[in-house]
Amino acid sequence: MEQTESTIVTSVRVAATDPWSQARDLIDAPDGFINIAYEAVDRHVQHGHGSDPAMLWLGKAGERREFDYADLAEQSSRFANVLAAHGLSKGDSGFVLMGRVPELYIAALGTLKAGLVFTPLFSAFGPEPIRTRMEIGSANVLVTTPQLFKRKIAGWVHELPSLKLVLIVGETAPDGCTALGPAMAAASPEFEAVKTGPEDPALIHFTSGTTGKPKGAVHVHEAVRYHAYSGRDALDLRPGTVYWCTADPGWVTGTSYGIIAPLVNRTRMIVDEAEFDLDRWYGTVQREKVQVWYSAPTAIRMLMRSGAEAAARYDFSSIRFLASVGEPLNPEAVLWSEKVFGQPFHDNWWQTETGGIMIANRPGMKVRPGSMGKPMPGIEAGIVERDGEGVRELKTGEIGELALRPGWPSMMRAYLHEEARYRKCFVDGWYLSGDLAMRDPGGYFWFVGRADDLIKTSGHLIGPFEVESALIEHPAVAEAGVIGVPDETAGEVVKAYVTLVPSFAPEEDLERDIRGHARKKLGPAVAPREVVFRTTLPKTRSGKIMRRLLKARELGLPEGDISTLEGDET
Ligand code: ATP
Ligand code: MG
Repeated sequence: MEQTESTIVTSVRVAATDPWSQARDLIDAPDGFINIAYEAVDRHVQHGHGSDPAMLWLGKAGERREFDYADLAEQSSRFANVLAAHGLSKGDSGFVLMGRVPELYIAALGTLKAGLVFTPLFSAFGPEPIRTRMEIGSANVLVTTPQLFKRKIAGWVHELPSLKLVLIVGETAPDGCTALGPAMAAASPEFEAVKTGPEDPALIHFTSGTTGKPKGAVHVHEAVRYHAYSGRDALDLRPGTVYWCTADPGWVTGTSYGIIAPLVNRTRMIVDEAEFDLDRWYGTVQREKVQVWYSAPTAIRMLMRSGAEAAARYDFSSIRFLASVGEPLNPEAVLWSEKVFGQPFHDNWWQTETGGIMIANRPGMKVRPGSMGKPMPGIEAGIVERDGEGVRELKTGEIGELALRPGWPSMMRAYLHEEARYRKCFVDGWYLSGDLAMRDPGGYFWFVGRADDLIKTSGHLIGPFEVESALIEHPAVAEAGVIGVPDETAGEVVKAYVTLVPSFAPEEDLERDIRGHARKKLGPAVAPREVVFRTTLPKTRSGKIMRRLLKARELGLPEGDISTLEGDET
């Protein structure tokens, strides 16, 4: 499809001054239609880049499979034809439940290409969270593996009234299901991407469930415009860049920046099927000459805990840019990465709801360790306080709720079946994020905590992040989760749960020493009154510390929705 100036202009809904609408070389939007899969793969083939490397897949057992853009275009077309052959079409709902196998990426692209709304689920979810999400999302098709089907799905899947097709990866399938291998082989390799409009729904992502029951955020095809732009300007993705995003597509980072942004920007993306392993990760960066690496604080703290000596055995000279998202990145981790990789991890902030990076330490910016950076060009962020029915903006240096002026293309368009909850997020022309932050005189934003996690002690407001960051500066502390517990005199007092670096034993002296260290760093009003040793902290599957669970357990209260809790398969 050849693009002309006039077709591009008709596709631009947003103000011409917005940087994502000006980045015209990044997507085609032929005749005003936008289909994410067309922009991610077919477009590159049309423009003569079919033989550019698109995806290097690294299997758990050491397998390697390379896909170029033509391969992904062809495979996703076959997949789209399989869906179409079963009567599935634009607007239908396609779910996948798989580990990071190539079929996951092909199914994602094929589902979008066929115009269906794509919902990825974490493969480690138990049967109940899978079923609930498929019911909420009225799944019409599910793609999964034989093992996952047998273990988690077979018992109930045929009870779902909306479900028309279950595709099973491989050559055979149980009764009532279709084997993907033969279906793909029989399908035509040609499929013209369905002409979806910019506002047609494309993706549903469930939030991490850190603060409560996960919400289903609905995103549209036009989001790709922002994925393309932010991939380039926040992560430095360029054609040919060797890029590794460690996030699983089961949560939003693994799709926005683990599938869409890298492909639209024509990078060579690396997909590792395996979970975190220190030598595997360092070995992959060295062997594949990774240039841009996007990860998360939990993983970075694991690298840090294993020490600089482990890192010194590897050559990291290929690295050009490091970025982190998902949780606050402790200043300690930024300084450490500068020492080990020769450059800092660049923290950025966004949410499932925003669909893309909003606040970032962009390439070339001076990093202030502990800060999330500055709003992306074209994004207006403010610090506000709720004031009656409305909000008022706070001044530099004041702590308040982080708010954004809606209008960028990857913003959610709805919470699935939760209209009232969605509407409540918007006040006085702001989208309220539910996170607390502060802006410094240089325009950098500093994360304080989630509104729910804030601790009020003797008239002070304390964000857990500040306390956790001080704790992990102690040589024995690997990770920390901090909560407020009720106290008669102070209202609340700070309590910390920590895990230890392996060479330290959980002894009383050490507890005292850690408290002393925190008191010195933070002062007696903010330092934890009590430090408890744990072998693990409760986390979501996307790696976020669940402070609400620490608190519920501390106070003997109900645990609430724990469908995303790591290690739990109920
Ligand atoms: P739920 O909304 O279900 O409670 P969640 O908010 O953890 O779950 P996500 O959308 O996956 O679900 O995560 C977004 C949240 O993660 C942000 O609102 C913020 O609290 C946190 N976060 C993301 N990036 C950063 C960052 N760079 N610094 C601090 N916090 C971050
Ligand atoms: Mg949230």
